[in-house]
Amino acid sequence: MESSPTKQLIANFPLCFKNGHTINRLAFWCVKCGMIAQDSQVLGQVSSIVSDTADIRASYHCSCGYDNVYRIRLKDDKSYSWLTDDAWKERRPPKQSLLTRLSQRYYKFIWLLKMKWICFCMKRNLRKLQSVVQNSSA
Ligand SMILES: [Zn+2]
Repeated sequence: MESSPTKQLIANFPLCFKNGHTINRLAFWCVKCGMIAQDSQVLGQVSSIVSDTADIRASYHCSCGYDNVYRIRLKDDKSYSWLTDDAWKERRPPKQSLLTRLSQRYYKFIWLLKMKWICFCMKRNLRKLQSVVQNSSA
């Protein structure tokens, strides 16, 4: 028999994995009426059997009378799965290759360079314009 959790789940947060992935809090809502649960109303516990996985058991007694029970498994690669009545559902993190991460960084860098170049051109054009105005007025 598993004992039901009696402590507030939020006491276990923020949740830090060894690789630095941190989860500040989780949001829960009543599966019956959709009411968002306040942190203080969610009881639960976190157990880490494997270092890259955190198993969460939580419960929330809604004011509509429904007793919500949640089972969530969080992983340090930002994926997570949750148990519904019939099965584990899973959500995988969007795959980001090294190439896209690098290109994103370079894109920012190139954008900055571009902005500087545009500013430079504008200044130069302005100077040209000024000299033209001065020449014509002279
Ligand atoms: Zn409810």
